[in-house]
Amino acid sequence: MSKTVLITGGSRGIGAATAIYFAGKGYNVAITYNKSADAVNSLKEAMALNNTPFLTVRCDVSDPAQVDLAVEQTVNTFGGLDVMVNNAGIALQKLITDTTNDDWQGILSTNLSGVFYGCRAATRVMVPKHKGSIVNISSIWGITGASMEVAYSATKSGIIGLTKALAKELGPSGIRVNCVAPGVIDTEMNKNLTPEDFAALKNETPLGRLGKAEEIARSVYFLANDAEFVTGQVLSADGGFI
Ligand code: NAP
Repeated sequence: MSKTVLITGGSRGIGAATAIYFAGKGYNVAITYNKSADAVNSLKEAMALNNTPFLTVRCDVSDPAQVDLAVEQTVNTFGGLDVMVNNAGIALQKLITDTTNDDWQGILSTNLSGVFYGCRAATRVMVPKHKGSIVNISSIWGITGASMEVAYSATKSGIIGLTKALAKELGPSGIRVNCVAPGVIDTEMNKNLTPEDFAALKNETPLGRLGKAEEIARSVYFLANDAEFVTGQVLSADGGFI
């Protein structure tokens, strides 16, 4: 029987690339999206061409009830959940003094609470089966910190702490929890960077280029599917940036 993956924020960027990669490996694929319904329709067409069993669920990850429902719908549709990828996230580039309470609460609830809700809902399904794998998407800024991205960096550091703790909690149940910390990846998240910013970031990256969303998808797949004795780890997929 095919395995099933649920990817939050699968409408575009890293999440969509991960959905396509898992589909290519024969998984049943469920994604959540929030606002990008058009992008989801294109993805649906691509999945249909490959006959991939594909479920899309509109879900704001900052709402625990919606996340629970997305997991429930995935299990009801495909009969289980083997891999949960907590990928949905937003960026925020502001000085701390310009960061409002709403900015802070908004990024915290999407980037960190969203991952917590996703992990909790997946755990409830996976523990009775004594198997499963969770991959959370952090960032290199969660390891090093980034100037003018204090709130973003804090959420991404939080994901690393959450991942390590949950790996210890779920190891005895046979469930692995890891995270990927991407470097600078060519997605819409970075659309507001200037050509000068891109040049500087490439210059700081030993491999001399930005990463591609599919390259992060491969790292996610490795941790989720192949790395059977790996848990509680942070895989930096960053071209050598840190
Ligand atoms: P992206 O192209 O901006 O895509 C973000 C995804 O998250 C979209 O699918 C979006 O859905 C979803 N999303 C945002 N807010 C949401 C919410 N409240 N509820 C549900 N879904 C929500 O970004 P990306 O570059 O692929 O980033 C994916 C992940 O990688 C993020 O966690 C990001 O922090 C992390 N990351 C990215 C980079 C990079 O350089 N790109 C580097 C390190 C880490 P809708 O469009 O449907 O709203």
